Amino acid sequence: MFTDPDTPQDLVTPCPVSTSDLQKQKYEQELAGPSKFDPHEIRLSEAGQCPRRQTLRALGFVPTPPTLREMAIFETGHLAEERITALWEQRYPGQTEREVLVQTEFGVGHIDLWVPPAARLVECKTTTEKRLKDLPLSSHVAQVTMYLHFWGNARQATAEISYLIKETGEIHSYPVTYDRQYARELIVGLMEVQAAIQLTREPVPIPDDYQATQYPCAWYTPQGLRRCGFWDYCWGAHVTTMAEKKDVVAVVPPLTADLAEYARIRQQQQALKAQSDLLDVRRDALEAGFVDILTSRQATVLRAGDVSVKHTLMPGRITTRIQDAIADGVVSEAAIKPYLKIGQPSHRWTVQKPAKKAHSKKGDSHK
Ligand code: SF4
Repeated sequence: MFTDPDTPQDLVTPCPVSTSDLQKQKYEQELAGPSKFDPHEIRLSEAGQCPRRQTLRALGFVPTPPTLREMAIFETGHLAEERITALWEQRYPGQTEREVLVQTEFGVGHIDLWVPPAARLVECKTTTEKRLKDLPLSSHVAQVTMYLHFWGNARQATAEISYLIKETGEIHSYPVTYDRQYARELIVGLMEVQAAIQLTREPVPIPDDYQATQYPCAWYTPQGLRRCGFWDYCWGAHVTTMAEKKDVVAVVPPLTADLAEYARIRQQQQALKAQSDLLDVRRDALEAGFVDILTSRQATVLRAGDVSVKHTLMPGRITTRIQDAIADGVVSEAAIKPYLKIGQPSHRWTVQKPAKKAHSKKGDSHK
């Protein structure tokens, strides 16, 4: 280990935390503290999105708290705002405004960035390369349409949605043109939300075309199923633990469709595997024949017309049979303990077929 001769060792205090610990602590404190947003407000940023979510939140239903990962993703959104603002600041120093309040009788919004000398309203978002083809997202266009309607039009503003691409840092901008008819439709939606909150005091129903495992209610990601924070209030009744078996969760439509699809995929994969195993047997036989020919001729390539097949003899992998070494007393179990590495638990999924009902004796007997 390198030791700086000028640094007395007793002055170096071991650092008790890492940066990732600090981030985790920050999010935990934020989760424990009061929300920065008023849950009872109708949000213009959610115009055109799930109306039930706005009503659930405003009526005091408490969503599942976001995971630390989701909080980190949300915070990355703010970084996009910083970078996009810096570009406009360079062009118009000291003349940009952030988080501009848009207060209306139908809801409240905050414009990410307003550039008065250019009369430009900028909504800042982050996204990934694979979503480029879907941009601009309709929910973002709805949000900006509301900002133009209630605030920007009176200032002859033009508007854009700027997406920072996470993988590359590039920014893609999409202009938003005000559409009066679309604005009307969105306002009607906000009025329905408002009526549910103030008059009936009941959440509006789940929109007809929403499904339990489809966006925006839930969506599959490489990290697992992600769900809207209010999912349990909307779809929780569709999942129940069976009384007779506590480890079995019975699902009802539409989740049953996902289970059926999964079973179908597994069945198809099994059929393909069986075919692949058959091909493997034939391939092994052919390769064995080729090796004989090449070895006898001391060659490495077989050729027939356009097809050439090259053979390379790969050296065998070296492995140490540590269990045998322990059994022979060459090395002790205690000595290798520090070198043991236990892998992460993995998932095993088994599609279980219903057990066939046994025929009753009465039915089986033939006289
Ligand atoms: S689960 Fe679906 S229907 Fe319920 S609030 Fe969320 S998005 Fe809306």
